[in-house]
Amino acid sequence: MQQLISAGQVLIGPAGQRIADGAVLTEGETIVAVGPRADLEARSGANAQHHSVPDGTVLPGLINAHVHLCWDGDFGFLDRYKAADDADLLLGIAGRAQQALRSGVTTLRDLGDRNGLALRVRDAIDRGDLAGPRLLGSGPPLTPPKGHCWFLGGEVAGTEQIRERVQRNAALGADVIKVMLSGGEMTPESAPTWQSQFSVDDLAVVVEEATAAGLPVAAHAHGTGAIAAAVEAGVSTIEHCSWQSEGGRGTDFREDVADEIARRSTGVCHAYPPDWRSFEQFVVGEERAAAAAARVRWMDQRGIRLVPGTDAGLPTSTFNDYVGALTYYTDKIGLPPERVVELATTGAARALGLHRVGQLAAGFAADLLAVDGDPLADFAGALRQQRLILARGREITPEGR
Ligand SMILES: [Zn+2]
Repeated sequence: MQQLISAGQVLIGPAGQRIADGAVLTEGETIVAVGPRADLEARSGANAQHHSVPDGTVLPGLINAHVHLCWDGDFGFLDRYKAADDADLLLGIAGRAQQALRSGVTTLRDLGDRNGLALRVRDAIDRGDLAGPRLLGSGPPLTPPKGHCWFLGGEVAGTEQIRERVQRNAALGADVIKVMLSGGEMTPESAPTWQSQFSVDDLAVVVEEATAAGLPVAAHAHGTGAIAAAVEAGVSTIEHCSWQSEGGRGTDFREDVADEIARRSTGVCHAYPPDWRSFEQFVVGEERAAAAAARVRWMDQRGIRLVPGTDAGLPTSTFNDYVGALTYYTDKIGLPPERVVELATTGAARALGLHRVGQLAAGFAADLLAVDGDPLADFAGALRQQRLILARGREITPEGR
């Protein structure tokens, strides 16, 4: 079936690429043409289904590069997670994936679940059994015994177990290998956040084994030492990337490491929640919030590829307002809206190794969003007025419609 979506403007994805009075023509799961509305109207078949947003904008579907679908985004989430059996978790994962989709997120990357359950949901979506976003998942992240997020089931000690776990995740169908390279805040019994949990040699084994399985590596890293090790080992994305100094008392920027991250186009996902204003006010406080923003600005200035993500599933980080998370980049970091659209679409797709996703162009996946208004003039206002979502050509009703 053909669908013709026309709008006051079409944002292709990359900043600066825009077609006024444009349209997108899709056939099944794929975009077949993008261009001026009049041309595409002439080109579309008589039976094409028309969607029109004359005062609105069509843009690529959004990509959230860091979520945990097995957690429910509210306080007490870990108790509920631990009490849930796999069937309960599967249903929760499917429901939250759909919630994200109804808020305009057509691609989600899950960076840590139990037993590869998010991958099962991915397969059900791919088969067409469930409506849902394009899912990428890691399965259980690698972590040392009782290390950060050990309860996801990815504990490993030594080279042998590292290789086994990577192979097992690959066998579960993982799209990416996640390694908890440094400690993390939500596992107080693990190493402190600034400290590396794996040696440089062990990390090299993770990357080697993942590469042998044809998989990229996402490394959770807060400390500068862990960040330097991650980029050196050749991971494809660094999660959090907080540049924490030894001892965790401050920021330890290393220009040589940042330059190498930029040179290799390693993606950096800061992972910040949709309601970042409340998070800063009530959870981290003004001082830490200012330091975090300074880090993101510093990385942007050094040409590092920023990849938006939310860590959705953690308390206060919900699945239903990704636009809120993107306003961090416009309102706090001060990036122009067209750049943030690029980060959350074309840029994220590249960082995640997705081909033919994240851009409105012939041959690309029919993942798109039609909104009222102009996101370049009123970023959040327009992006929250969603009229239509297509996920691989499938029409989805936006939340609240
Ligand atoms: Zn995470």
